[in-house]
Amino acid sequence: PLVDLVTPHRELQEELLTVFRTALETACFIGGPMVTGFENDFAAFCGTGHCVGVSSGTDALRFALMAAGVQPGSTVITVPNTFIATTEAITQAGAHADFVDIDEQTYTMSPAELERYLEKQCQFDPKINKWVHRKTKRVISAVVPVHLYGQVADMDRIVELAERSHPLVIENACQAHGADYHSRRENRWQRAGSIGRAAAFSFYPGKNLGACGEGGAVTTNDAELAQKVRMLRDHGQPKKYYHDLEGYNGRLDAIQAGILRTKLSYLPAWNEKRREIARQYNSLLVPARGAMILPYEPPWARSVYHLYVVRVPERDEVCNQLRASGIGTGIHYPIPLHLQNAYRAFGYRDGDFPVTERVARELLSLPMYPQLSLEMQQY
Ligand SMILES: *Cc1c(COP(=O)(O)O)cnc(C)c1O
Repeated sequence: PLVDLVTPHRELQEELLTVFRTALETACFIGGPMVTGFENDFAAFCGTGHCVGVSSGTDALRFALMAAGVQPGSTVITVPNTFIATTEAITQAGAHADFVDIDEQTYTMSPAELERYLEKQCQFDPKINKWVHRKTKRVISAVVPVHLYGQVADMDRIVELAERSHPLVIENACQAHGADYHSRRENRWQRAGSIGRAAAFSFYPGKNLGACGEGGAVTTNDAELAQKVRMLRDHGQPKKYYHDLEGYNGRLDAIQAGILRTKLSYLPAWNEKRREIARQYNSLLVPARGAMILPYEPPWARSVYHLYVVRVPERDEVCNQLRASGIGTGIHYPIPLHLQNAYRAFGYRDGDFPVTERVARELLSLPMYPQLSLEMQQY
């Protein structure tokens, strides 16, 4: 299969049942020590001062954008090669999503394209200290790079451009739990989730750290932002029935938090296993190098291989042959966001983001999960 969610849960069954029993015995289903315990552990894992558990990665993105101060009517820049939750969160925060193309080697936001967007399509307004889009007159309020497939986007240039002109950088780290990035500006390794003003994580079951249901988290070093996310996830109430603002029902379940806390202790080993499996693929696929492009891991990245994605021109044929041999594959993602029916009103056309469009026809995800054996890889 492309992923195996049965084996790891069978291995951890006793530990996970203990979490469930504790919840039943204490009836602590919402909030409480399991949630704060997980939040503290995950903040430490990411190297951030704060972590706020929420009900999904989509909520995490939306709350992070709102708490960071993205204004309704402004523009938030992201990439078209990602899951639609990225733009849903932007739109639901009241902003307008706009795209810049990806880098052809890493498949993540191209810093050069971001720079080009700001310099060609926007004008810097010194009065408000922000970039304003020339045509739409919208203020550029935030940039959302996506750490796709487990690898951090090339953040140095993105952060630098943002520092100069004040859009906020909110990381979409939904696929990158534990991924590291070597900042040449700061000459140190930084962990996904600790680089921008805030970051969003998803604990959807198939992610590197997955709940047994829905879950997500916002990480940040900004105490005030973290407090705003806590308000947003819980109807804007700092105290029960005292509502300072209108929020949402977007909390993390205590049972899910307990499960995530248990699994978090295994995550470093699971991520290491994924890296080893990726290295195996890299060497097993050497003979296929003429027919496919293998994942590129730059010296400044330590990917946690949420997915192992190759580029094959004859993608659909290869995919069919693999299926006929009983091998599962995936396509992440077949249709770039700017060409989705849901966004027809944005007015984008085929050809607007050529790198994304080109790779979308060729990307193929091979089976990747910590329990994948060498024999299976060889087969
Ligand atoms: C999984 C994912 C999300 C959304 O997470 P949910 O928990 O399903 O809401 C957002 N962006 C990316 C890139 C993802 O992979």
